[in-house]
Amino acid sequence: SVPVVTIDGPGGSGKGTVCGLLARELGWHLLDSGALYRLTALAAINHGVSLDDEASLEVLAAHLDVQFVAGDGDQVPPGIILEGEPVEKAIRQEEIGLGASKIAALPAVRSALLSRQQAFAELPGLVADGRDMGTVVFPNAPVKIFLTASAEERAKRRFIQLQEQGVDVSLDRLLEDIIRRDEQDANRAVAPMIPADDAIVLDSTKLTIQEVLARVLEEMRK
Ligand code: C5P
Repeated sequence: SVPVVTIDGPGGSGKGTVCGLLARELGWHLLDSGALYRLTALAAINHGVSLDDEASLEVLAAHLDVQFVAGDGDQVPPGIILEGEPVEKAIRQEEIGLGASKIAALPAVRSALLSRQQAFAELPGLVADGRDMGTVVFPNAPVKIFLTASAEERAKRRFIQLQEQGVDVSLDRLLEDIIRRDEQDANRAVAPMIPADDAIVLDSTKLTIQEVLARVLEEMRK
């Protein structure tokens, strides 16, 4: 079977960066599951589908026309193509993050995306980044990490990251959005964002990305 390491946790915990570095180091595939929820929210907005319309959102999620371009690490940056359009920047907007969180609470949307996520598990291995990778999507993964950090630290990190991407936001607004999104994600009835029983909980507030990466690799060697 295909080895899978799951890294779950809230936005800004360092998850995305750590997963990218880990996948590259191991030469494994990467699943950015949050992107699938963001893409579904963006597709809904593009097609005039309401973010409450569970039945239509389920159809959109099941039929998402998306390609993940791996990039080559140096010249070609990784990208996401939705219905022929590059959308990497569009889906990273906070508004789409909140929309993604809203539709992610709908069971029909989650189940429509389930098999698409599981299909990423191919040899030589998969690094799965999300909220429910260890609890729902890959419950049998031998190594599960739950990465957290204080809300203030996460807002700061997100702020720097978005600035680098040329996305304009205020730090206060980001902190508010992060807290709101955490509440929505942690309190929903289906697949709430909680550590799996067998997950290792890592608080990254005072750790560098390299330190987190080293901890994850250490857990994988055990
Ligand atoms: O990680 P990211 O910020 O891209 O995720 C966007 C939203 O998608 C999250 O706030 C969460 O509501 C949802 N999500 C989810 N399950 C996942 C990944 C993301 O519910 N596995």
